[in-house]
Order: sequence, then structure tokens, then C-alpha cells
Amino acid sequence: MTTIQNHLPTAELQALDAAHHMHPFTHGDALAKKGARVITSAKGVFLKDSDGVEILDGMSGLWCVNLGYGRSELAEVAARQMRELPYYNTFFQTTTVPALSLAARIAELAPEGLDHVFFSSSGSEANDTNIRLVRHYWHAMGKPSKKIIISRKNGYHGSTMGGASLGGMSAMHAQGGLPIPDITHIDQPHWWAEGGDTSPEEFGLARARQLEEKIAELGEDNVAAFIAEPIQGAGGVIIPPETYWPEIQRICDAHDILLIADEVICGFGRTGEWFGSQAMNIRPDIMTFAKGVTSGYQPVGGSIVHKDVAAVVNAAGDFNHGYTYSGHPVACAVALENVRLLDEEGVLQHVRDIAAPALAEKFATLGEHPMVADPRTFGMLGGLQLSPDKDARAKFEAPVGTIGLRVRERCFANGVIMRHVGDRMIVCPPLVITPEEIDTMVERALKSIDEAYEGAK
Ligand code: PLP
Repeated sequence: MTTIQNHLPTAELQALDAAHHMHPFTHGDALAKKGARVITSAKGVFLKDSDGVEILDGMSGLWCVNLGYGRSELAEVAARQMRELPYYNTFFQTTTVPALSLAARIAELAPEGLDHVFFSSSGSEANDTNIRLVRHYWHAMGKPSKKIIISRKNGYHGSTMGGASLGGMSAMHAQGGLPIPDITHIDQPHWWAEGGDTSPEEFGLARARQLEEKIAELGEDNVAAFIAEPIQGAGGVIIPPETYWPEIQRICDAHDILLIADEVICGFGRTGEWFGSQAMNIRPDIMTFAKGVTSGYQPVGGSIVHKDVAAVVNAAGDFNHGYTYSGHPVACAVALENVRLLDEEGVLQHVRDIAAPALAEKFATLGEHPMVADPRTFGMLGGLQLSPDKDARAKFEAPVGTIGLRVRERCFANGVIMRHVGDRMIVCPPLVITPEEIDTMVERALKSIDEAYEGAK
């Protein structure tokens, strides 16, 4: 077998896949019985599978294809860069023009003061970098005991040992002895599920203040940083109450704790700003990015570091950390072109003026369905709760995720990709989606929810 096997019929592709390919976050045997859906091409917001069926991608792949599929400009830039310099590293006092140019461009787009970039190839790696970076920073500041990183239950920060430890996903912690030491978690600001009788505003404050309580419990001198996504993505598109982030900011400032905003999903236009921190008025010391920086066309991630933190790290001798592909020239060239297109084509403006308002309006109509509670959007992220009795904020009797999975499967059958997180359904379409495509996406979602509802009766 020497080439891509795209001449084979679907069943043979599936058999090869089942025989040799281990999938992320997948029950291997169950998938092998069923056969994976083979995605073969894509254009705009539509995927095509090996049987020629078109599917509207309501998740931008894995939250990453911000610019939509099929942009030949990105392919051309990659080919040009591969011919000129396919690879060189950024270790040992060398650099490449794409890497330095991308770092400089990101510094222009990031919030005030965040003007240094450490590259990786993924969000997980970038968060591993953050663990090492903040500990190195405090060591260099003469406070080596400041090592603990506080994170949140049901947050997602990646799949490496470090990333998964920062994340608060219990199913991940249950495999492989996680979290690693000196990482601890507080509760998430998920009002619908955990807010009880409090108002969202009171609940947002209470959840933020858990950070202050945790710092007091651990001792300020032992805490290095707090990390969180501006909006939790993989946890189910959980948009925090408005009171949450200002209080978190106050607490980090008051206790000399570095604030890391994990912008892997929120970054590069998803909220209508370049970064979620700008949309939510957060002043982080470090931001994690990946995904949307290349619209997923190449793997790039990294940490955007405030100049005050970078100055300390840069003065502290060698930072003994890095990846073979940190600042990969082809990947960085593609990222630069992606950012240029997002900028010059006014994609953020499109999000702010057209797509996000259209998504907000249409997504809200799903709330008319008896099984849909609290449909909400922020920028181009949307989440809703499936519930058997939404006024009581009730959960299903069936194990968590049973109904959500059923809805997701109906979505697949009805030509739209919508993800389920337990019994939450979420969307994150390409930023370039049109209002007509948003209508199609939501109508297919509604049909799917209704079919699952009828089936559950
Ligand atoms: N951080 C957040 C907020 C994410 O959503 C993800 C991936 O979904 C990651 C980190 C990990 O990124 P990657 O899968 O590129 O390692």
C-alpha cells in the first residue's frame, strides 16, 4: 500500500480503518462494528463523505475551521513555503521568517502587553508549555514555592498528561493516574446545571470566589496560576454569568496569581473579536491558542505571553523546553495567510454584524421545543440543554448522555454535525457561515431533536 486509498469503496475503507487505525476519544470495538464515516472532501461549511453525502459542519471540524473549507490560498502558501524551506527549527539561536512574522502578527492582534509567542503544534502542548513556563517564571522571581495551578472541573485543556491534568474531565482523570501533582480544580460556572436557587449573577460571583477560597486554603505563596477558557467549549459551551470574569480578574490581581486564558476555541474570531479575552474584558498574563490560528489547515498552537512575564523568563537563562515543530515554517506561513484572510475579508465584522446575531436569533427558537432548555450563544458558539422538564431544570432518568447521543445520531442522519456533551447539544460553525446556512443548520438540528424526542416517548 503506497498511496492514499481513495479509489476504494466505503466498506473497504472502513475495514482498513477498523483493522489499523486507533481513533481518539472512541470505543474502538464499537466503531469497528459500525464503520467510521469517511470524510473525503469539503467546501465552505459542507463536508462530503465517501458515499457522496453532504453534511453541514456545525462544529467547524473540532472547533477549528474558522475560515471554512476549501480555501486554495492556504494550500498555495503551504506549497510555496514547502518548496522554499519545508522545515527548520527555532532552537539554538535560529529562527525562520514565517515563525517570526507570525509571532509579530499575533502580538499586534493580542490584548495590550501580550507581545511574545512560544509556539507548539497543538493546544495540549501549549498548555504543557504553560505549566512549565509559569513555574519557571515564579522560580526566576525568587518564589519557587509558587507551583500549584488552579483549574476548573469540566474545563478542557487538552489530552497530554499536563493538558488533561489541567482539564477537569473526570473520565480522562480516571485513565492514567491523573491529575499530575500540583494541579487542583474548583467548580465551574455552569448555572443551569449547578446554580440551584441562586440567580445567575449570584452564582457567577460565588463560583469565582471559590478561587479566592482555594488560594486561601493552599496559601498564596504556593499558587502559580489560574487557567480557564473564557467560554468552556468541550465542557458543553458554558457561557459564564456576567459577574464571573470580573471577579476572577480581581482575585488574580489581588493575590499575585498569573491568569492564563485558554483561547484555543475562543481565539481568532470565534467571539467576534480576535480573542475571547477582548470580548469578555479579561486581562490575562498568558493566552493559549491553536485551532483557529490556521483554521485547522495546519497544526499550530502556542502561548502568547505578557511582556512582563516574558522579560523575566528571557532574563533567567535557558528555558529548557521546546518542540521539534515549534514555529514550523509551513504551518506558520499558513497561519499568517489565514489571519490575513480573516482580516482582509472582514470575517470578524461578518461575525459581529451578521453571523452571530443570526445564530443568536435562530438558535433561540430551539427553546420552543419541549425538550430544549436554555439555548444560548456567544459569538459563534451555541449550547443548549436537553431536559425532560425544563422549568424544573430536570435531568433525564436515562444515564447522562443517552438522549444527547441519540440527538447527535439523528443530526448525522439529517445532514448536520452537532456535538453532544452529556445531554447538552452544542454548535460552533465556521465563522463564514451565511444566515441561510444558519437556518439550514438549526432546522436540521430541530428535526433531529424532535425525532429523538419522539423516539424517547
Ligand atoms: N484547550 C482548549 C480550550 C481546547 O478546546 C482544546 C481542544 O479542543 C485544547 C486545549 C487542546 O488542543 P489540541 O487538541 O490542539 O491539543
